[in-house]
Amino acid sequence: MVKGNISVQTENIFPIIKKFLYSDQEIFLRELVSNATDATSKLITLSKRGDVSGEIGDTTIEIKLDKPAKTITVSDKGIGLTAEEAKKYLSEVAFSSAAEFMEKYKEGNIIGHFGLGFYSAFMVAREVEVISKSYKNEPAVRWVCDGTPEYSIGEAEKTERGTDVILHIGDDALEYLEESKIESLLEKYCKFLPIKIQFGTKTEEEAGEGDTKTEITVPNIINNPEPLWKKQPNELTDEDYKNFYNELYPYSTPPLFWIHLNIDYPFNLTGILYFPKVSNALEAQKNKVQLYSNQVFVTDDVKEILPEFLTLLHGVIDSPDIPLNVSRSYLQSDREVKKITTYITKKVSDKLSDMFKKDRQNFQDKWNDTSVFVKYGMLSDDKFNEKAVEFALYKTTDGEYLTLSELKEKIKAVQTDKSNRLALIYTNNPQQQHAQIEAAKTHGYTVLEMDSVIDNHFMQSVEYKDPTLTFVRVDSDTVDNLVQKEEQKVSVLNESEEKIVKDIFEPLVKKVGTMSHVVLKPLSADDAPVQITRNEFMRRMSEMRQFQGMGMGEMPDSFDVVVNTNHPLVAQKLLHDTGEAQTELAKYLYDLALVSQGMLKGAELTAFVKRSISKI
Ligand code: ADP
Repeated sequence: MVKGNISVQTENIFPIIKKFLYSDQEIFLRELVSNATDATSKLITLSKRGDVSGEIGDTTIEIKLDKPAKTITVSDKGIGLTAEEAKKYLSEVAFSSAAEFMEKYKEGNIIGHFGLGFYSAFMVAREVEVISKSYKNEPAVRWVCDGTPEYSIGEAEKTERGTDVILHIGDDALEYLEESKIESLLEKYCKFLPIKIQFGTKTEEEAGEGDTKTEITVPNIINNPEPLWKKQPNELTDEDYKNFYNELYPYSTPPLFWIHLNIDYPFNLTGILYFPKVSNALEAQKNKVQLYSNQVFVTDDVKEILPEFLTLLHGVIDSPDIPLNVSRSYLQSDREVKKITTYITKKVSDKLSDMFKKDRQNFQDKWNDTSVFVKYGMLSDDKFNEKAVEFALYKTTDGEYLTLSELKEKIKAVQTDKSNRLALIYTNNPQQQHAQIEAAKTHGYTVLEMDSVIDNHFMQSVEYKDPTLTFVRVDSDTVDNLVQKEEQKVSVLNESEEKIVKDIFEPLVKKVGTMSHVVLKPLSADDAPVQITRNEFMRRMSEMRQFQGMGMGEMPDSFDVVVNTNHPLVAQKLLHDTGEAQTELAKYLYDLALVSQGMLKGAELTAFVKRSISKI
C-alpha cells in the first residue's frame, strides 16, 4: 500500500462533517447508493454505445450488513475505478466537493443535505475501504481512508467489474448495523432509484404441483426502478395511478384525481400530483409531496418549491434542475425555481379548468373535497385566482352548483340592492339557520352554503376583488332587509304604542346578560313576530377578533331582537293584554325566537317547555 495525502486547504473537514450533520447522518446511505447507481447507469450507457466489450450481465446493486465485523457494504457492478481514478475521484474530486458542500452548508439550511457525496460515509464510519475494478482492463484497486486527510492505495484481489464501498462502522453509529434501520433508510431514500437494489433475501410462496406451495428464497429487491412518473401518461390507466398512490401512501383513501407532470424544456421536471380526498384539512395533510432528483429522494419539505396551497397536494416531483445544495432562502428567490413553481401552478389550474369544461357533473361531485384547496389557492395566488374564478363553484341550499357569473345572472333581478350592489345571501349553518333560509327562499332569494373554515376569508377576498358584491349572512337581518331596497313598510303602530312595545321587551332582553338590543321594525304580517338577527358588520368584527386571539370569551354575545310591529300578535294581542299576561306573551314570543336559533338552553329551555305544556 502507498500512502497519500488529501490536499487540505484550510481545515480538516472530517470533524466538521461529523459534527454539523449529525442530525442528518442517515443520508450517507442515499449518497453511496446513488453513487453506485450513477456508476451503473454510466456503464449501461457506455455499453449501449458499444464502448464496453461483451455482455454487462446483471447490474443489481447490493447492500450487505456484517454485524460481527461491524461493516456495511454497498456493492455495484458499474464502471468501477482504476487506481488513477480512485486517487483522482475519491481523494481529490470527492474531497473538494465535500469541502464545497460544507461551505454552503455553513451559509444556510440546505435542502435535504443533498450533494455531500462520498465523504458522507465518514459520518458513520471510522474507516472507509473502497475495492474496485474498472470496466477498463486494469488491475483492481484498494483505497482506504480513516477519516483523516491521509489515505492508502494499493492493489486488490477483486476480479469482477464494479465497486465495493465497505464502511467500518464507528462505535457511535452502531445502530446502522440493524437490518430494520437500513431497510427503512433504503425505503425512504432509494425506493425509486433506477437500478435494482437488493438487500438480503426473502422467502416467497410458489405454486407447486396440485395445491401444494413451496417456499423459495428470492433476492429482496427494495426499489421500483421504473416509477410511474417516469412513464408516458398515455400508456397509463386510472388503475395504475391509484396503485401508485397506494405505493406512496399505503392504506390511504384513494385520491380524487391527479396531474401527470412531464416537461423537458426549458427545464426538466416530471412527477405526479394527486388531489387527496380531504374532509377539512388545512393542517395535517401538508408535506406529503416528495421531492426527488433523478429518482433519488431528497425531502418531503417542499415549501420553497411549491406555492403554499399546493403543499396540500400529495405525490412526487422529480427535477434535476432544482438546485439542491443552495440554502433554502436562496431557493425561494431563484429564477429557475420560480419558473418551475409557475409552471406547476398553471398545470394545476389547467387541469381543474379542463375537468370543469369536459365533465361538469364529475367536477361538481368532487367539489366538496376540492373546494378548500381551490379557495385556498384563490386566496393566496393571484395567477391561480384569475383562472379559478371561472370554475370555482358556489353551492346553494337547493344543491345547485353555480360559478360566480352564473350566480350573478341568476340573482341579479331580485338580489340587487338600492346602491346597485349584489347581495349574496349565505348560511354558515343550514341546520341552525333553517327558519331564516326558508324565509329567504320565500322571498325568491338564493342562499349559498358557506360553511367551511376558509369561507370567511374567501368571501372577504371576493368582496375585495369585486366591490359590487357583498355577502350577507341569512341571519344578519330580517329577511326583507337582507337585500336593502328603497321601499320601507310603514308601522301600524303609532309612536306611543311603539314605546309601550319596546318597554315590554327591553327588560326581558337585558335580563339575559347580553349586549343585545330591541329593535322595532314594521315587517310584513307573515314574518315572525320576534326574530334574532346578528348584524353582519358587528359579527365579522367579533369573528376577526376571535380569529386573532383577541378578547376570546370576553365579548358577550351580541344580537338584535327584532320585534315586528306589524305582526297581529304584537300589534293587537300584546298591546291589548295587560299586566302579567302581557309580560308572559312577550317572554313567550322572545323564547320562541331564541328556540328557533337553538339559543335557549339548560334551565331556561326546561322552563320554556314546562310553560308551553301547561298552556295546552
Ligand atoms: P459526485 O457523485 O457528486 O460526483 P461524490 O463525492 O459522491 O460526488 O463522488 C465523487 C466521485 O467518485 C464520483 O464522481 C465518481 O467518479 C467516484 N465514485 C464514487 N462512488 C463511485 C462508485 N460506486 N463507482 C465508481 N465511481 C465512484
